Amino acid sequence: MKNIDKLPRDEQAEPGTGGGPCCVDPFAELPPEQRPAPERKNTGLRKTTCPECGLVYWTNRPTEVCIHCSS
Ligand SMILES: [Zn+2]
Repeated sequence: MKNIDKLPRDEQAEPGTGGGPCCVDPFAELPPEQRPAPERKNTGLRKTTCPECGLVYWTNRPTEVCIHCSS
């Protein structure tokens, strides 16, 4: 009968220690323009196809001719 009062109470003694913030986005509170962009957003990059050789590539130049054909 004495064991009833001997239940471990340390499990809830320290809230917040159960799990680490491994999955928390550190930039979740920032507006989108202040977040570090993992994606190419404002770099001007676009996917295009070279009309000369048909190479599909990413470029930020106004021309669609790849560097191999423009040189
Ligand atoms: Zn080309």
